[in-house]
Amino acid sequence: MNKRLCTLWISLVMTLCLVTGCVMPPVEEETSQPDLTLIETDSSHQADEAAPSGQTEEGSQAGETAASQDEAAGEAATSQTESEEPASSQDAAADGVYVSPETYEDFNADTIPAFAGKTYAVIHDNVPYFTEEEIREALEGPYEDYSPLDDLGRCGRAMGSLGVSLMPQGSRGDISQIHPSGWQRGCGYERSHLIAFQLAGENDNQQNLVTGTHFFNNDGMRPFEEMVGDYVREFQTLVLYRVTPVFSGDELVCRGALMEAWSLEDEGEDICYCIFVYNVFDPSEHTLIDYRTGRTYEGELQIAEEGMAGGIVQSEKEPGEIHTYIVNKRSLIFHYPDCEGVEKMSDKNKMEFTGTRDDALDAGYQPCPACNP
Ligand SMILES: [Zn+2]
Repeated sequence: MNKRLCTLWISLVMTLCLVTGCVMPPVEEETSQPDLTLIETDSSHQADEAAPSGQTEEGSQAGETAASQDEAAGEAATSQTESEEPASSQDAAADGVYVSPETYEDFNADTIPAFAGKTYAVIHDNVPYFTEEEIREALEGPYEDYSPLDDLGRCGRAMGSLGVSLMPQGSRGDISQIHPSGWQRGCGYERSHLIAFQLAGENDNQQNLVTGTHFFNNDGMRPFEEMVGDYVREFQTLVLYRVTPVFSGDELVCRGALMEAWSLEDEGEDICYCIFVYNVFDPSEHTLIDYRTGRTYEGELQIAEEGMAGGIVQSEKEPGEIHTYIVNKRSLIFHYPDCEGVEKMSDKNKMEFTGTRDDALDAGYQPCPACNP
């Protein structure tokens, strides 16, 4: 390991220890020096998908010879799989073991690992999903690119080739006027930059801000942002960087973000990571997120064993949680009891309704746009 990485390494570990009390190293030594060929996933890896590791080379080389030989090699590989270890993704998935998707496009809310109590999980052997073309483009010079908001007002991936020229000169301005999708006042959220202000100077760009917890924004993302920021500032070089918020279905609050970084000049020797940071409250806060609306409620976050599949699992109440709503008998709009609309409502129009949100909708009531029950 070289000296630069060592410094970054130590400072990151120290930060993480301070922040989370966790002693696990964030980036494994071996994986921080990946082979560039690992990034050429699309064609080569898909061909090897069903082959157990160790058989991969043989299997794909066999494919270039006669088809019958290829089949024989495939069969040999399969029988070895059965007798040795479950290395195919299907076998592993059946046991609940997490297997990272092979491509960036397949990384979504259904393919995030189970929350194991740590702020983040390593994805794809810690190797970013960047394509050769994306790397080539990034080498041409610094840029930053943000996805347009979707129909629900949600952010998409933010990406850039980060260099000192993009970094801010001044300090950060006010961002309180931005309300990212799922934003709820008084719920303890932070407006969370996808690409940190310190990295590209984007202050109040709504395509770069999501609703996040302190555990996500500060404890989870920040150490990884600082690693990149410190490196770019010190060595005046470029890092290819991408942050992708991951939403499930029509939910307004992201389940977390995929963060990928790759130092370009040395082909990822100093900076190389691919992690998923969970957007949850610190488990000790016993606060859960209704990801559809951004409302929060009391409950327990399920903590799984590390390396298992399953994403974020909250108490059973979610999403069919039962509430007591206040319905306005005249307008047939239903509210949470603490909504300002309820305070203004005359008592004779108030009616209690207990059930799930879907029950209320089925009964013909409309959700209040202000409290978004
Ligand atoms: Zn309301």
